[in-house]
Amino acid sequence: MTTRRPMIAGNWKMHKTCPEAEDTARALVGQLTGKEEAEVMIAPPATALVPVSRIIGDTPVQLGAQNLFWENQGAYTGEVSAPMLVSAGCRYVIIGHSERRQYFGETDEGVNKKIKAAVAAGLVPVICIGESETERDGGKTFSVLDKQMEKGLEGLSEDQFSQAVMAYEPVWAIGTGRSATPEQAQEVHAHVRQFLEKRFGAQTAGAARILYGGSVKPANTAELMALPDIDGALVGGASLKPDTFAEIIHYKR
Ligand code: PGA
Repeated sequence: MTTRRPMIAGNWKMHKTCPEAEDTARALVGQLTGKEEAEVMIAPPATALVPVSRIIGDTPVQLGAQNLFWENQGAYTGEVSAPMLVSAGCRYVIIGHSERRQYFGETDEGVNKKIKAAVAAGLVPVICIGESETERDGGKTFSVLDKQMEKGLEGLSEDQFSQAVMAYEPVWAIGTGRSATPEQAQEVHAHVRQFLEKRFGAQTAGAARILYGGSVKPANTAELMALPDIDGALVGGASLKPDTFAEIIHYKR
């Protein structure tokens, strides 16, 4: 069986000015021993990428962005491209977060272009998928996720996908304090891995990390991480405080 290194990622969303982000990053680095089992990533807002990158330097904390635009440069006011994120020190980029789909009209087609642009620039995409409460209640969870994956991953070769990270984030669990139960999460993660196996083959699917996101906190991390197809967590609210986030990172202790 493939061993997948777990990943704990913090999505700061639209929180923290530059000085606040620097303080948080500094405090987080101070809480880590360097021997963490999990890979650690933080995704500050775009304005704080460069200052945070200077603080995390060559510590074990990796830098991620929360979004990108698929063209490399041009007349696209307000947008930031993949090569720009690389030059700011990013290794990861979150793509297709449900808040972007909900508030900014992000579509599966856009997600697909963004994934390709990220991979072409050498960034690792963290590809978010998830169903709404109505969709779950209507028994549509798997069909919704399949559509998001079919369209989002369209045209991607096994090689292009090989580095990508998936994140299952049920929309009803984001910021609500109501996490999916371990059983609900494992069921979906196993389904996602099966989809990836059909699409990219057993080896790539077996090596792919699938993170869970939605009201992850220190109290529920260990039980989620104990499940066979959960390889990490994408943490929103609980990643904003360095002590709390460090507790999640050290979930085994
Ligand atoms: P939450 O957000 O941990 O605050 O629920 C998760 C996310 O949106 O990535």
